[in-house]
Amino acid sequence: MKKDRDGHSTLSRRDFVRSSAVGLGGLGAALASLDPKQLEAAEPPRRWDKTAAVVVVGAGAAGLPAAISAAENGASVMLIEQQPDIGGHAIQSGGAMALGGGSKNQKKWGIEDSPEKWYHDLINWHDYRFSDREIVWAFANESAATLDWLVEKGVTLRDTQPGNPDGGPPTVPRSQGPVLAGWDGNAGGISPTGSPGTALMRPLEATARKMGVQILLEHSLTDVFRQTTKGGRVVGIRATTKGKTVTIQARRGVIVATGGHTSNVIFRRAFDPRLTEEYQVVGEPYSLQTGDGELAAFRSDAALWGAANQTLETRARTHVMEKPVLIGNQYGYLRPGTRPTNDLLKSPIFSRIRATGLPVKDFQDVIHVNMAGVRFVNEEATGWSWWNACMAPNAKTPPGANGGGPIWAIFDADAAKREEWVCAPPFVDLDGWFFSANTIEELAAKVMCKYQKEPLPADALKAAVERYNAFVDAGKDGDFGKTTPKYKIHAPPFYAAWSTPCAHDCLSGVRINGRAQVIDWAGQIIPGLYAAGESTGGFNQHGLAKCLVFGRIAGREAARSVVRT
Ligand SMILES: Cc1cc2nc3c(=O)[nH]c(=O)nc-3n(C[C@H](O)[C@H](O)[C@H](O)COP(=O)(O)OP(=O)(O)OC[C@H]3O[C@@H](n4cnc5c(N)ncnc54)[C@H](O)[C@@H]3O)c2cc1C
Repeated sequence: MKKDRDGHSTLSRRDFVRSSAVGLGGLGAALASLDPKQLEAAEPPRRWDKTAAVVVVGAGAAGLPAAISAAENGASVMLIEQQPDIGGHAIQSGGAMALGGGSKNQKKWGIEDSPEKWYHDLINWHDYRFSDREIVWAFANESAATLDWLVEKGVTLRDTQPGNPDGGPPTVPRSQGPVLAGWDGNAGGISPTGSPGTALMRPLEATARKMGVQILLEHSLTDVFRQTTKGGRVVGIRATTKGKTVTIQARRGVIVATGGHTSNVIFRRAFDPRLTEEYQVVGEPYSLQTGDGELAAFRSDAALWGAANQTLETRARTHVMEKPVLIGNQYGYLRPGTRPTNDLLKSPIFSRIRATGLPVKDFQDVIHVNMAGVRFVNEEATGWSWWNACMAPNAKTPPGANGGGPIWAIFDADAAKREEWVCAPPFVDLDGWFFSANTIEELAAKVMCKYQKEPLPADALKAAVERYNAFVDAGKDGDFGKTTPKYKIHAPPFYAAWSTPCAHDCLSGVRINGRAQVIDWAGQIIPGLYAAGESTGGFNQHGLAKCLVFGRIAGREAARSVVRT
């Protein structure tokens, strides 16, 4: 598959035809009749470059547990990872793991829980109830054992009372985080961002290596091979590394754990046509979620599953999109340097992100305008209320784009002082993500970037600022109900900072069963193919927990699978 300049995968017509045709039933058959040759799955090589019993693809929240679990069940394991380092989104995460059902840690805090109670809560809570019961039960049943197992594998939990994951399901506390102290020395590696997820992923990396898992960095999955192009057991993969192709035989199983498709604009637009190229993606550029694993699995006849979960707009806790936590840089959801332990400029990620961004303490200090220069939202809003407003088409939305386009935070010198922002590099990125000028009109004329193709209309921006200043005088936001607008935007210089919503979770993907086996379009198990984490569909839960649990299940099941030749 081709990549664009940012390393994002792009679907060629051939990819599209192959994946849709294999994956979309009647439409697929119609496309197949056009050019059946294009639809064939990759042909396995006569000789393999490498071999292992279990091949895991992706070294994130699902992949590392999968590799460890396969190794402890007696398999030789090869783990390939696209990036120069392990960790994926997980290493940058807050590390909060929603693992309940009666873990040792819950018992230690006197919390009574059981798989049944956890299951019951999951299937009755918000959007979570739109999940496959088989998968939810497997999760609830193996959740506590997975947390205990993670501790056994080197993860140290915080010595604090567990909380409620994302505010619920609320009956008993089930969210616990790993400790950050000690991750740099003992666990054998540094953090890309200083995030608590490091304390989860570095110990798992150390354990995997100790157990003999071979980790091949900078290896990118391109194809999954079945015995023949017509089907049969999955027997290996093809990957690319530094311009070369390598084939790896998987004698027992392949586990797809590549983390979802948020970085693939065409793939994500299949779920929500508003998700055009300007939207940020959490976790980038440390790791990309290009959908490579799903697309390779689709070409091997895997079914797409849980599609509605990606687009449900019931305002629940599923983090489909998020407000950036930083403004004025391209990657507003990475938090580099926010912890004193992390020396940002030496961080392996800094050359990729170019600027740290400005954390917003108080949204009274900015107004948000869209690419038409129009204010459109209560800036203090969070979650769905904020990003859904951002994504509403406006006067400048081009035909076929459907979304709200770039969003800019506008503020003045007084706001910068209140927030203690330094409006210069390395905090902001002057190459298209942050602008300043002495008048609002001059500022409007400057605001252009690869996603803002025309400058902000000066009249509209001026009108937006004047109207907001009038609301400050009146003590009331007559348009969007911001609580008593406090500060006028009147002291030069004036600033515009990139503040576009971030795509967060993948809640749809490859169909699996409760044993993490991949299911095809006929509802049959594809022998030898497993998947876990955000590459899978069917479980509408946010975050790490389902990835860790199904990673562990997939590794165990792949290692124990019986191969008939
Ligand atoms: C900033 C941030 C904070 C978060 N905080 C929390 C939190 O506190 N609690 C919580 O529950 N969740 C949190 N999450 C979400 C959580 O991190 C993800 O749900 C989880 O990491 C997904 O796991 P995964 O294994 O599916 O994907 P990842 O962890 O992203 O791992 C996928 C891996 O596959 C690799 N890969 C991709 N394509 C290929 C390919 N073609 N070949 C080889 N390798 C490939 C990627 O480089 C990556 O390393 C957070 C996420 C972010 C970004």
